[in-house]
Amino acid sequence: MTLDVAWADRWARLSAERIAGAKDELTELDRQIGDGDHGENLDRGFRAVVAKLDDAGDLAQVGDLLKLVATTLMSSVGGASGPLYGTAYLRAAKVTGLETLDAHAVVALLEGALEGITARGKAVVGEKTMVDAWQPAVDAAEAAANDGGSPVDVLAAAASAADAAARATVPLVATKGRASYLGERSVGHQDPGATSTAILLAAARDAAAV
Ligand code: ADP
Ligand code: MG
Ligand code: MG
Repeated sequence: MTLDVAWADRWARLSAERIAGAKDELTELDRQIGDGDHGENLDRGFRAVVAKLDDAGDLAQVGDLLKLVATTLMSSVGGASGPLYGTAYLRAAKVTGLETLDAHAVVALLEGALEGITARGKAVVGEKTMVDAWQPAVDAAEAAANDGGSPVDVLAAAASAADAAARATVPLVATKGRASYLGERSVGHQDPGATSTAILLAAARDAAAV
């Protein structure tokens, strides 16, 4: 499987499908420790992404597509997660210039996303945010690439690490974002943004496994 712009297009469209399917679950998680809009925010954003892709015609490179996703999410998602995911896709687009991604370029894309999120939101691991899913995803991706894994292996490692890490946010106390207003009462709930991160990375893997 070659990770090229066609893969990035499948990733974005599959993300939209999966987010639409998980909308109620994400909203419910956000109702427990936030303001109950995470599912709607992301669903609105990814619907807008699909509309933009339909209008855009053929894009040349993965980086072009990631930039389109970034600007669309920034202008349509709102909340904390809009600027965070927008910046993530913008920094992920540092792979611009490459027609196809090898394993190390996939790591660079994911690292870029994490850098964007931390630059914007200043969260570190353990604060019960989407960073708790992105950091282990990047670490697992790097390990898979260093072991000689294929680009798809790298995505699979990132997706499964993010999935485990999202579930591991349940016992954490939130210290960033709206959930931090709850303090200790945020314990016992899974972070919505870490959960959506796991969904997006699973979509990246599955878009490559065709
Ligand atoms: P809002 O909280 O503005 O309603 P959303 O509900 O769309 O925005 O997104 C909430 C998610 O955003 C949280 O579950 C968390 O993962 C993430 N988040 C919030 N603040 C930060 C931050 N400073 N750094 C990283 N992620 C954050
Ligand atoms: Mg919210
Ligand atoms: Mg909100």
